[in-house]
Amino acid sequence: MSALATSTGSINLGQGFPDTDGPAGIARAAADAVLTGRGNQYPPGPGVPELRQAVAEHQRRFYGLDWDPDTEVLVTAGATEAIAAAMLALLEPGDEVIAFEPFYDSYAACIAMAGATRVPLTLRAPSFRPDLDELRSLITPRTRLLLVNTPHNPTGLVLHAEELAGIARLAVEHDLLVVTDEVYEHLAFSGGHHPIAALPGMRERTVSISSAGKTFSFTGWKVGWVTAAPALVSAVRTAKQYLTYVSAGPFQYAVAEALRLPDSYFDTLRADLRRKRDLLADGLAAAGFGVFTPEGTYFITTDITPLGEKDGLEFCRSLPARCGVVAIPNVVFYDDAEAGRPLVRFTFCKQDAVLEEAVARLQRL
Ligand code: PMP
Ligand code: GLN
Repeated sequence: MSALATSTGSINLGQGFPDTDGPAGIARAAADAVLTGRGNQYPPGPGVPELRQAVAEHQRRFYGLDWDPDTEVLVTAGATEAIAAAMLALLEPGDEVIAFEPFYDSYAACIAMAGATRVPLTLRAPSFRPDLDELRSLITPRTRLLLVNTPHNPTGLVLHAEELAGIARLAVEHDLLVVTDEVYEHLAFSGGHHPIAALPGMRERTVSISSAGKTFSFTGWKVGWVTAAPALVSAVRTAKQYLTYVSAGPFQYAVAEALRLPDSYFDTLRADLRRKRDLLADGLAAAGFGVFTPEGTYFITTDITPLGEKDGLEFCRSLPARCGVVAIPNVVFYDDAEAGRPLVRFTFCKQDAVLEEAVARLQRL
C-alpha cells in the first residue's frame, strides 16, 4: 500500500509511520555517536549498557517495575525482532499461541516460523473488547503462551486494568507465558497504559516488548527492547544472537537519551496525537464511514458498509484512483476473513494539513 501511495501520488494513511521526524536533539545524538565512534563497531550482544540502563530507568519511572539492566533487559532490532526472537526462543513445534485477532502482521508469520499454531481470540466490533470466557475456552494442554498487544494495532483497543487482571489470572492458573507487545505504550489516550508484567504472578512469566519507533518518531532506526526475568531474556537473547547478532550501535546511544526525556515530551506526544485522532475521526465520520474511535495507537479502524461498500480490500485498491488516499484493509490482519472484510484502517500520525487534505478528499467519495 505504501508503494501504491508513491506510484499514485496519494496521501498515505496506510502504513503507520510519522511524516515528521522525532526530536532534533535526539537525531543529533545519533549523528554525534557516529562521528565520535560510539557504536560504529559491533556493540555488545545484549545491547549497549547505556541503553539497557535507560530502558530499566524508563520502566521504573513510568510503571514502578524494577529490571536489572545486566540480566533482565535485551536490545533488539526493533520490536519486530523481539517478537520473532521471543517466538523462536519460547515455542516448540506443536505449541499453541493464543493471540488477539486482528493480529499485527508479524505475529502469524513468527508463530509459523517457530512451528507453532496460532489460536485467534477474535476482537469484535463495535467495542473490540476481549471476551475472557472465550479466552479461557481456547486454552488447551498445548497452549504455551498468550500474545498480548496493548494498545492494540489495528483496533486501537487499550486493555483495561480488570481485563489485564483476568488475563494474568488465566496465565497463572494454566502456567502460561505471556509475551506483550507494548510499542504504543505512550499512546494510550485515556486511562493510561498498564503493563501486564506489573500484576501479581506475572513478573516471572512475562516477556515485555517495546521500541523507540512510535514513541520517538524514528521508525527507521529499528531499536527495540525486551524486559523479562533472566531465564526468559537469556532464551530470547540466544535466538536474537542468530537472527541479527546485534542491533545498530549509534542509534542505541541516541535512544538511551530519548528514554530520559522529561515527562513533558511524552505528554505532548500523546496530546498531539489525541488531537489528530479527533481531527481524522471527525472527518471520517463526516465522510460517512463508521468510526471506531481508538483509545490508543495512531490508527483508526472504520467500517465501510455505511458507504455502501462491502469489501475493504477492493475499497483500498480503488481508493487512490477515486480520491488520492491510501488506507489498509483490515482483512490482512485476520484469519476470519468475514470479520475483517468491511473494515479499513487509517493512520493519523501525519501533519494536520495532510490529515485535513485527506479528509477533504474523502468527503468526495
Ligand atoms: N508491534 C506492533 C503492534 C506494531 O504496530 C509495530 C509497528 N509496525 C511493531 C510491533 C514493530 O515495531 P518496530 O518498528 O520497532 O519493529
Ligand atoms: N506498525 C506499522 C503498521 O502497522 C508499520 C509496520 C509495518 O508496516 N510492518 O502500519
